Amino acid sequence: MDLKPFFVKPGSKLKLEDFKTGGKEFFEEGKKQGLEDLKKNISEIDRLQEILYAEHKQRLLIIFQAMDTAGKDGVTRSVFEGVNPQGVKVVSFKAPTSTELEHDYLWRVHARVPAKGEIVVFNRSHYEDVLVVRVHELVEKKVWKRRYRHINEFERMLADEGVTLVKCFLHISPDTQKERLMDRINTPEKQWKFNPGDIEERKYWPDYMAAYEDMLNETSTDWAPWYVVPSDHNWIRNLVVSSIISKSLKDLNLQYPAPVENIEQYREKLI
Ligand code: ATP
Ligand code: MG
Repeated sequence: MDLKPFFVKPGSKLKLEDFKTGGKEFFEEGKKQGLEDLKKNISEIDRLQEILYAEHKQRLLIIFQAMDTAGKDGVTRSVFEGVNPQGVKVVSFKAPTSTELEHDYLWRVHARVPAKGEIVVFNRSHYEDVLVVRVHELVEKKVWKRRYRHINEFERMLADEGVTLVKCFLHISPDTQKERLMDRINTPEKQWKFNPGDIEERKYWPDYMAAYEDMLNETSTDWAPWYVVPSDHNWIRNLVVSSIISKSLKDLNLQYPAPVENIEQYREKLI
């Protein structure tokens, strides 16, 4: 799949309104074909994850940022459906605890980056510190502004140390969010997901979009680029994210480690 339409070129000055939230124009073959391609990506991710684990050298960090209901959980479930549950860790970042607030904002994040052979998915991340924190004025402007620089340097250090970073902004329209919130109100099995706070937060939509736009422009780098994923349709969102992840895994040139020396001799010893 051509990922170029979703890629945020480092140094670009994009306007978020130029990015589609629907994305059907990129998938003229339609949903049926899309779901087949998704299936292939899922099994490719499963295959490559096993080699990543066996090789025990490289590390993959996937970051999902999005407005509520865009599907950070849903995409994680779909894309890693085929993977050995031991192979992937998901970390959700909520409002910081009092202990976390005693430290710098990257402290809790650094502790959760993947170890060798691991894939870690961040459901929200250090980017909340230039998003919700900015929108709700939890710190002064000069404090959140300098964080772009910290984040770029932090991520560069991770990349230098062997972490591959993949960052996805799941992009939905406000109408889609409205439909999904309504669905959570109306469907008994989804009511547990409904959070009245999400309705309050919707009022800040334009402020969030401004914060996301700056985040994408300031922190898409050669070593940790952003993708803007059209997320109004779950199948398109899952297909695009699975393509990004399987491509990233392929680019790692993963290799099984060499077997122990003279492995053949053990055939006789095995009684
Ligand atoms: P769900 O899909 O289950 O709603 P969620 O990620 O929205 O998942 P919530 O518990 O609803 O989880 O929300 C977590 C909240 O924590 C979000 O509103 C987010 O903005 C907030 N949060 C995360 N990091 C920070 C931070 N550094 N400072 C302030 N708030 C934060
Ligand atoms: Mg929420």
